[in-house]
Amino acid sequence: MTTIMNIRILRKISFLLVVILGLSFCSSVSPDSLKAKNIILFIGDGMGKEHIKAASLLTTGNDSLLYMNNMPISGWSRTSSKDNSVTDSAAAATAMATGVKTNNGFIGMDANFNPVSTILEEAKRQGKSVGLITTVQISHATPAAFASHVKDRNSMTEIASQMLAEGVDVLLGGGEDEFIPTSDTGCYPALGVRNDGRNLINEAISGGYIYVCNSDSFKSINTSSTSKLLGLFADEGMARPFSPSLAQMTQKALDILSKNSNGFFLMVEGGQIDGASHSNDAANAIGDTVGFYEAVKIAKEYVSSNNDTLIIVTADHETGGMTVSPTSTGVSGEDGPFNMPDGKKFYVLWSTTGHTAVDVPIASQGPFSDMLSGVHENTFIHDVMLNALHGIDNSNISK
Ligand SMILES: [Zn+2]
Repeated sequence: MTTIMNIRILRKISFLLVVILGLSFCSSVSPDSLKAKNIILFIGDGMGKEHIKAASLLTTGNDSLLYMNNMPISGWSRTSSKDNSVTDSAAAATAMATGVKTNNGFIGMDANFNPVSTILEEAKRQGKSVGLITTVQISHATPAAFASHVKDRNSMTEIASQMLAEGVDVLLGGGEDEFIPTSDTGCYPALGVRNDGRNLINEAISGGYIYVCNSDSFKSINTSSTSKLLGLFADEGMARPFSPSLAQMTQKALDILSKNSNGFFLMVEGGQIDGASHSNDAANAIGDTVGFYEAVKIAKEYVSSNNDTLIIVTADHETGGMTVSPTSTGVSGEDGPFNMPDGKKFYVLWSTTGHTAVDVPIASQGPFSDMLSGVHENTFIHDVMLNALHGIDNSNISK
């Protein structure tokens, strides 16, 4: 009797083992066999590997990692544009948004002035919700390349019109002036810059958007009853400290976009790392990089319970030729010292006030992320996102 009981128990145990092994086998099947329901793309404008190192040293010291650095997949993006080894943000964002290398200054167009379909538009075709967030003007080059098609990045009023016409569900950033006519100040002191007399904010409200222009009204938004949100928090670029922060904007966008059962595409730009680096202003370049990673942290928390989401964290190019140094012995442009948590110090050296041609890091997790290991052209970031949306197997695509 006891033996029979033991055999039964053993059978149950072995059955359970088979189930557990089977489950662990299923979960060890590459997530590449799945589609990505959601994609969150983070772009630190002008953020090179030394910006990340400096932000890491300042916040966590030598001993731990920033949120980006503990993602499972890391690689490098080659950033040259069609007409220059040193890209600008327009060509780089177009490469990531469309998979096409174009000339500096072009937005969502190839070098022959042909509009090219973007990953945001593809996500929308699949019935997903889509959003764009930045700390510079929402019609600035990086977000522009995902939802507009113009031959000159400076055509920012036209870009703003096209973004609304695209039906981007969540638009958060600065740049109120590009949405309102020259006769109107809106929420912020400067007059608008639209010569066509249109008030895109009023048009957006008529079209079903909730509109907010300050942090208090932003915080009070009921995300469960909001499906379209326009938030413009400055005349042009947002002022530091950013309010709402990039992390707060990311959280709000996720709350709204994730209500769509078809999924979403969201691009979040740390938009002023670049400007601070052009000014060789290390404190703000590092501070903005830290703020960018606070937004990445929000996305990682979201993904912890939504693993059908591809997260990619990268940059469009590096700005400033930044080098982190233990000493202030650089030949020019030293900045610092900056204090690490353990009391040690570091300095930042600069080599230029412009962009550089260096490769920039990619960190990634989720379905299809393992394709981003290694060194790739920036256009490949688009290709991976497109394949992730369609669930196309890795083997069909050349790196
Ligand atoms: Zn720049």
